[in-house]
Amino acid sequence: MTQLIELSGATKSYPGGVTALDCVDLGVEYGELAAVVGPSGSGKSTMLHLIGTLDRPSAGTVRIDGHDVAALSDRQLSALRARRIGFVFQQFHLAPGRTAVANVADGLLYAGVPRKERERRAEAALHRVGLGARLGHRPHQLSGGERQRVAIARAVAGDPALLLADEPTGNLDSVAGTGVVELLRELHAGGTTVLVITHDRELADEMPRQISLLDGRVIQS
Ligand code: ADP
Repeated sequence: MTQLIELSGATKSYPGGVTALDCVDLGVEYGELAAVVGPSGSGKSTMLHLIGTLDRPSAGTVRIDGHDVAALSDRQLSALRARRIGFVFQQFHLAPGRTAVANVADGLLYAGVPRKERERRAEAALHRVGLGARLGHRPHQLSGGERQRVAIARAVAGDPALLLADEPTGNLDSVAGTGVVELLRELHAGGTTVLVITHDRELADEMPRQISLLDGRVIQS
């Protein structure tokens, strides 16, 4: 059975001789909820870029949803990313001045969804994250936790196989952070594979699986 994420000897070196990821073997099954955890500089962002198909390995292979990332053209990679992967970032990255619905609907542009359908799916996704009463609100009218929920709605509106959440609670107070973790659990329970990237050991320990990085290597998975 194919795994959603398969890293085999995956290595990423940067010019100047830094090996940010060093021969990593890792498999993540469809339907998992896992944390990628490690201190600053351990290689988390690099791994996020490889798994998110934003970058290709220097050596070894990265397979996502059965596709060898190195074998795909930039165009094919963009299509894979748009259709199969949702991203959530610490900084939310919402467009200021655009409503919650517009922010979420815009996330479906690259998946080639027609406008009316984008809006319909955006509203459904906002209901799913508990923001059914905030559809017309703009980011400055929302709390931090609500903004992150909009970002999560945008990430899942296209029904991706994989949700990559990079320090999703990093800008939130503990109550809002707990709410976001709860939401990620709900999405996982609904069938989405969720990978949370964090330096926060406590947050990682709340997940069913921890993939621990140190100096570019997986020391526990
Ligand atoms: P983390 O996300 O865990 O903080 P990173 O993946 O960002 O770790 O970094 C891993 C290592 O790779 C660090 O030593 C970092 O300095 C180095 N690194 C990351 N990105 C680059 C880059 N674009 N060019 C050169 N070195 C980099």
